[in-house]
Amino acid sequence: IAPQLGAAAARYDLVVKGGRVIDPASRVDRVADIGIEGGRIRAIESSIAASDAAEVLDARGRIVAPGWIDIHVHVGAPDLTPAMLLRDGVTSMVDGGSAGADNIDALVRVAQAAPNRVRIFLNVARTGVTAGGELMDIAAADVDAAARAIERHHDWIVGVKVRLSQNVAGDHDLEAVRRARRAAGRLPVMLHVGQTFSPLPKILELLNPGDIVTHIYSPPPHSLLDDAGRVLPEVRAARTRGVRFDVGNGRNGHITWPIVDAATKDGFWPDTISSDMTGPGRTFRVFNLATVVSKFLMLGLPLDRAIACVTRDAAPSVAAFRDLGTLEPGAPADLTVLELRDGDFEFVDNEDAKRKGRQMLATVAVVMNGRKAM
Ligand SMILES: [Zn+2]
Repeated sequence: IAPQLGAAAARYDLVVKGGRVIDPASRVDRVADIGIEGGRIRAIESSIAASDAAEVLDARGRIVAPGWIDIHVHVGAPDLTPAMLLRDGVTSMVDGGSAGADNIDALVRVAQAAPNRVRIFLNVARTGVTAGGELMDIAAADVDAAARAIERHHDWIVGVKVRLSQNVAGDHDLEAVRRARRAAGRLPVMLHVGQTFSPLPKILELLNPGDIVTHIYSPPPHSLLDDAGRVLPEVRAARTRGVRFDVGNGRNGHITWPIVDAATKDGFWPDTISSDMTGPGRTFRVFNLATVVSKFLMLGLPLDRAIACVTRDAAPSVAAFRDLGTLEPGAPADLTVLELRDGDFEFVDNEDAKRKGRQMLATVAVVMNGRKAM
């Protein structure tokens, strides 16, 4: 005889009730309840009875999105931890090159201990990011050392990062890209562009489909625009063949309003919105991913497309995230719950130029692997 579980056994561990569910991956934008069981999304229905839920998260008046993915952060220093980013609604992230072959083990330990999903783009330079510019001596880009580090930590390292600005890589940006590409093999390379020695088209020539260009709205020298302020044809061609274009807000030299205005007027919106968050960025020019996404609402990107840039369209950036960024039944139950606030909000670019916006997203609750994390 089967045991009588009776009415006490709830069908769902958690039900998120009454929110406006926005899941661009499954073209859902409606008020609905989400049933979660065993760490996965099981149902999205107009109404799920509270008696079917062991626990209820009230999301009335709020937006419920797939857990946000930030593909460019820096969690290698103790002033920014994955747990801090979880409270910002970031359930999955990629560290963009904080560490290289010589200091990767410590960063892998950070990823292993994190309450959310952390993966790593290994810096092609053995030292990782340094203030003086880790590639001023190109010998630091050691392909064999990088390849050995990737092999040793293949569950955690999901790509290779290379910083190309002239104050990082001097005049050997192209050789740095070639070495990063060789070290990465089939994994993606993330390129930090802006103020490079070489023009952007020369750099893009060296990329494979799936490679990621970050800081796409960097001011000159060598922005993504031509002298007439139009997006370079080589940039569009790279996108067409599968190169991905990422925001990487950061603090210095990565985004200015005139460049974003010209590029977006020409129809060139980002594939992914990332923060390039660091400890200092939390109080200076970046603040949190919701603020960076809200910037793009202010610039005219519709809400569902802005959310897609941190969910559906961010997930394909790394193989380990391919089942994320969606609320399809069966997907891991990572959710970011947001308020869309109306008011007068000020946004700044990397030169402290101010813009007024009327809407601001704010993270108010987070579900990670089916459990309330905030
Ligand atoms: Zn960065």
